Amino acid sequence: MTDIADEMATAQAVVAHLREVHQQIAALQSEEVTLMTALYHLRRAQQLDLGVSNLNAGEDTATEIGIALKVSQGTADGLIGLGLDLENRCTATRDAFAAGRIDLAQTRAITKSLTNASDELLAELEPGLAAYAEKADPQRIRRTARRRLLELDPAGQAARRKSAEADRYVSISAHDDGTALLDGVLPLAGGQAVYERLREMASGQCCGKDPRTVAQRRADALIALADGTGRLVCQCGQADCPRAVVGETPVARKALVQVGVSAETLAGLQDNPALLSGLGAIDPDLARQIARHARFEIITDTTTRHAENTENTSELRYRPGARTARQARAIDGICRAPGCHIPAAASDLDHQDRFDHTNPQAGGHTTEDNLGARCRRHHRLKTLADNHANGWTVRHHPGRVVEWCTPTGESVTTEPEGVDFLFPTTVVPPVTAAGVPDAEPTGSIFDPGVAVNIMTELMQVYTTPEQRREQARALASRRARINM
Ligand SMILES: [Zn+2]
Ligand SMILES: [Zn+2]
Repeated sequence: MTDIADEMATAQAVVAHLREVHQQIAALQSEEVTLMTALYHLRRAQQLDLGVSNLNAGEDTATEIGIALKVSQGTADGLIGLGLDLENRCTATRDAFAAGRIDLAQTRAITKSLTNASDELLAELEPGLAAYAEKADPQRIRRTARRRLLELDPAGQAARRKSAEADRYVSISAHDDGTALLDGVLPLAGGQAVYERLREMASGQCCGKDPRTVAQRRADALIALADGTGRLVCQCGQADCPRAVVGETPVARKALVQVGVSAETLAGLQDNPALLSGLGAIDPDLARQIARHARFEIITDTTTRHAENTENTSELRYRPGARTARQARAIDGICRAPGCHIPAAASDLDHQDRFDHTNPQAGGHTTEDNLGARCRRHHRLKTLADNHANGWTVRHHPGRVVEWCTPTGESVTTEPEGVDFLFPTTVVPPVTAAGVPDAEPTGSIFDPGVAVNIMTELMQVYTTPEQRREQARALASRRARINM
């Protein structure tokens, strides 16, 4: 009996301590948000003084915080946004958060729920919600806020919905083990339409013998809608499948994806990872599968070569030629700012040494060496840095190394990412043992007539794991002969 009493006492003590720690963390997080927001105000004021536009002044604060704390720029952006909300709109929530009475998730639930509320509604609702939040989890807070908004201002709901719908988006990011995470906010009716359609395809276009789960079929249905086939093909393998496609099997549109992969890996002679634009590293088999339907562009390794003195007229034009642009983007892979993952394909090409429009001869030339991938935001950061308008310094070193110095003197260098995939220094030998993935259907990886280049011979076709084992054996026996 004393044991149980002891345990109870201990458990109570643990819970009490836990609550205390949770409050302390919340209070400290509130302080962190306040500090980030203070830095934002500081940078914004400095940049406005220097003539930076109202829209963009202070936007690089998140990049600066990202460098200082090794958090993502998106996280810093989100916390600064929260800080601004707490300062201007949700002051009761701010006080509760600062005292640790509510935590970060509860605070967010309130500010997010009230994002589109008018000032009058805010004044009426926010203090009560802040008090309520001390006794409710984030989900309950959101539900209560929604109900209260509808009660107090039913007419305003349409306007709030419109504002909320204005924030609709779809995004895709890298997920674990070569999968992608699809995320988004849609207008309610549109979201329902998407889901209903996927459900309908998953149940109506495959028979009961399809080996996939319903969830897998819904996911495949979304891809089928995007690739233009608009149709799931039942995978039961029965000749008399009741849901078989009548007429021709729909052909998928070619994927608009960019993959950076070494020639050796593409040919199956090595198994180095490849770079899927915007998503990161993928395994070589997946890269070869994608390549079966690809158009090729050959990229040569120029990061180690010596600067050439030969100059041609295109270098004196502001806009790079297609080949120069392709090279620079492929070698960089992603935006070159620290912590930024925007693919080079979606980035600007920035003149590292500034181009001189009045006297092209005098400024930085339009060469591969002098062009670097920068997303819009970081292109602006670099331009402001060059104009001494934001306190940053961006320096370029040989081998496409870029050094970014924040206004407080912290410095981070970034190296091109694409080059590691295109010209890997670590060679991963091809998989020759058991455990290789299932063979892919053979057939030309080329679209005849589209891809005609000097690598056609080398890459020929997508090679199945069996063919690659064969190649590896042949290569090994050739080496053995040479060694004799
Ligand atoms: Zn079937
Ligand atoms: Zn960027």
